[in-house]
Amino acid sequence: MHLTAEAVHSRARERLPEISLATVYNTLNELVSMGQVLEVPGAAGAKRYDANAHLTHQHLVCTRCGDLRDVFPGGEGTLVLSDENQHGFQITSVQIVFQGLCPDCRQAG
Ligand SMILES: [Zn+2]
Ligand SMILES: [Zn+2]
Repeated sequence: MHLTAEAVHSRARERLPEISLATVYNTLNELVSMGQVLEVPGAAGAKRYDANAHLTHQHLVCTRCGDLRDVFPGGEGTLVLSDENQHGFQITSVQIVFQGLCPDCRQAG
């Protein structure tokens, strides 16, 4: 499930009719900083929020319509940054975004 803040807002309003979009944004930002929710990069259009933070996965994004899927890449390789490439950062996570055209967009040409 990858919802835009607007989509989260319209769902939240079913239960809490008074809730503002700003409150939704603040709550999402808090959840992201606590690591409860992932902010998904690289999608066309609005940022998406992903409640699958507990499950290690990557994303497949359609560069035309922004369709977004969870994917679980295979293979033995792990990405490693040499000390030089870490620029002094402590690495806490890696996100990989596979980009391409979804079946609908491929058909549309
Ligand atoms: Zn598409
Ligand atoms: Zn996801």
